[in-house]
Amino acid sequence: MKILVTGGAGFIGSAVCRHLIGETDHSVVNLDKLTYAASLTSLAAIEADPRYRFVKGDICDRAMVRALLDAEAPDVVMHLAAESHVDRSIDGPGAFIQTNIVGTYELLEAVRGYWSSLPAGRREAFRFHHVSTDEVYGDLPLEGGLFTEDTPYAPSSPYSASKAASDHLVMAWHHTYGLPVVLSNCSNNYGPYHFPEKLIPLMILNGLERKPLPVYGRGENVRDWLYVDDHARALELVATRGEPGRSYNIGGRNERSNLAVVEAICDALDRFAPGEGGGSRRALISFVTDRPGHDLRYAIDAGRIETELGWRARETFETGLEKTVRWYLDNEAWWRPIRAERYAGTRLGASSAK
Ligand code: NAD
Repeated sequence: MKILVTGGAGFIGSAVCRHLIGETDHSVVNLDKLTYAASLTSLAAIEADPRYRFVKGDICDRAMVRALLDAEAPDVVMHLAAESHVDRSIDGPGAFIQTNIVGTYELLEAVRGYWSSLPAGRREAFRFHHVSTDEVYGDLPLEGGLFTEDTPYAPSSPYSASKAASDHLVMAWHHTYGLPVVLSNCSNNYGPYHFPEKLIPLMILNGLERKPLPVYGRGENVRDWLYVDDHARALELVATRGEPGRSYNIGGRNERSNLAVVEAICDALDRFAPGEGGGSRRALISFVTDRPGHDLRYAIDAGRIETELGWRARETFETGLEKTVRWYLDNEAWWRPIRAERYAGTRLGASSAK
């Protein structure tokens, strides 16, 4: 199959491109605007592969996207392009409305035009896969409960509201125009090539350099963590085998409080990079004023994708975190320039997760 991936130079999109080229026979066209969050070096391992092609462009440009679809004739579109950082959405929601809502609308219209022009057999087989977040469901009490695909939407932040809006547009294009869409809502991802403004890479790199480790509130907020390569495998399954009009929750059954995550990072760094003048890095943790509208807990019931598509997370939080910490220790050439040149900083230099 030929798959058009939007946002393939971002954290999850690049993992999807590496997975599709490295582990499958599919070909990939990667359409990405190359915002601050993008990194083409995350694709260095596949850039010379004849089954891979990169195109710089904005999903808001409907005419360009339509021309690209006509020229490349993909069987599947996997839509990951988005503004994705919650703190940035609080400081400046405009870009989130533009890319996540308007951009998804323009993309849907370009795809609808292309899909309508396909011959009957290819039209039926075509899929538009919209990649979304569990944050559209709002939050859960600390004591219990899980998000299912039937949980009502109740987004809290400008980011999650923009993703919720895009999810509704995608489902409306299915119900109204018959576009064969599939949707997935995933919990927090972590792993290699994660932009160092997000919680786990930020804490790994600050901890490595023995800088302060600022945690929102008391660090009690709970997130359900998934290793990014497990997500990439799940996305391939949803895109190629999901049932049109259906959504799939994806999560790793790895709930951890933010404080537990940061402590685990400190302990891993103390083991792998003890350094001189040592001492436990847990002493670097400080608590800072909470993020406004901070969701308490996210947790995913991944039963549908497990039973219907046979997916299972391979990494536990412990194995995935160890791989991730080691990757950052071994790949300074990837993160050092980003941290020095492009990381503009966010509200507090702290992070609750995404
Ligand atoms: P990211 O910020 O790392 O990457 C986003 C990519 O989209 C970047 O390469 C950027 O250049 C590109 N992009 C942004 N605006 C664009 C536009 N207008 N046109 C074309 N390209 C554009 O994000 P990520 O963490 O990889 O997330 C990818 C998708 O997965 C997003 O839709 C996000 O909502 C969703 N998601 C993320 C997580 C997570 O934990 N990171 C969890 C669940 C779902």
